[in-house]
Amino acid sequence: PSIFAAVEMAPRDPILGLNEAFNADTRTDKVNLGVGVYYDDNGKIPLLAAVKAAEKARLEAMPPRGYQPIEGAPSYNNAVQNLLFGKDSALIANGQVVTIQALGGTGALKVGGDYLKRLNPAATVYISDPSWENHRAIFESAGFAVDTYPYYDPATRGVNFAGMKAKLGELAAGSVVVLHACCHNPTGADLTEAQWGEVVEACRARGLVPFLDMAYQGFADGIEPDAVAVRLFSASGLQFFVSSSFSKSFSLYGERVGALSIVTADKDEAARVLSQVKRVIRTNYSNPPTHGGAVVAAVLNAPELRQMWEDELAGMRDRIRAMRVGLVESLKAAGVAQDFSFVIEQRGMFSYTALSAAQVEQLKSEFGIYAVSTGRICLAALNSRNIGYVAKAIASVAK
Ligand code: PMP
Repeated sequence: PSIFAAVEMAPRDPILGLNEAFNADTRTDKVNLGVGVYYDDNGKIPLLAAVKAAEKARLEAMPPRGYQPIEGAPSYNNAVQNLLFGKDSALIANGQVVTIQALGGTGALKVGGDYLKRLNPAATVYISDPSWENHRAIFESAGFAVDTYPYYDPATRGVNFAGMKAKLGELAAGSVVVLHACCHNPTGADLTEAQWGEVVEACRARGLVPFLDMAYQGFADGIEPDAVAVRLFSASGLQFFVSSSFSKSFSLYGERVGALSIVTADKDEAARVLSQVKRVIRTNYSNPPTHGGAVVAAVLNAPELRQMWEDELAGMRDRIRAMRVGLVESLKAAGVAQDFSFVIEQRGMFSYTALSAAQVEQLKSEFGIYAVSTGRICLAALNSRNIGYVAKAIASVAK
């Protein structure tokens, strides 16, 4: 018999499964709110002008395709550090921060998870309840037990901060705590700056290992304000991990551009940690691909392209916010009694709409509108043409 004869079918990825169902739907007014991708007002994934310019220059230069260093290019890694920690960061100046180019935010979490397993094999990893579904899978596949800390409060549609803090206060020393640095996926509910300060102190008091996941820098309030959690941890003197991604902020999903940064106690420690992280990378994919990182570095390091990118990022941020306001207004106009104004307060691409699984199913069957069964919708999939239709459909199932 075949060596694969006994292999069972793995469960389908719930969100990718949604995409398949959407693609197979023949209704012309169908809308996919299930994705985690930014679409422009024409319903297209944008190729940013700053990216186009950097790609054109790179194509014309026709550079040779040698291997990159295991940790990626210094021009890229330095640019990442400046974005995350601030260009005047003492941690960077001291050489305390290790940054490696990773295959998207997912790859950064994977390298970080695998390295942590070597560093701290008996630790439990805690993720928010709920969280991006791949968090659990990545840390479990690294060999960790994964548990949750309270996060979302359906009653307030915000963060159950008392519950979160109480839980952090009872974790064992060395526990890894995965924190969404901004634009929480899937709920859109973020901590305030004061609450971040309390999280930092809880991590210090219990000896926890913070792992900040920053997949949406620039999608809430801007590049600098969205880094508030990273900056507070930076000022704390603690050691911590940051995974970051340019998939959304550069609209470079398929190029797989991200980074893992690790803040250590000093320069000597940084060198030793980097040497160990490089072993993890070497036995996994050896070294990162060139193109995406080179393009991002070219944009971030050239003042004109950088300004162009910041303006385009602001455009994406503003459009999402306009869709939040527009949806709430359209729902009101469609006669929905329920108060949806919380959608305006939520941040980033997503909103937990409080629609039930049955209502989500009804949106799909009656209107061809696809959302995640938890009620998560992607605001960046709304545009001036479909927002009225979506609002009427939600009004119809919510009454
Ligand atoms: N973390 C979170 C919270 C995310 O939402 C995502 C993307 N959906 C990632 C990490 C992964 O980012 P990437 O696509 O760059 O791997």
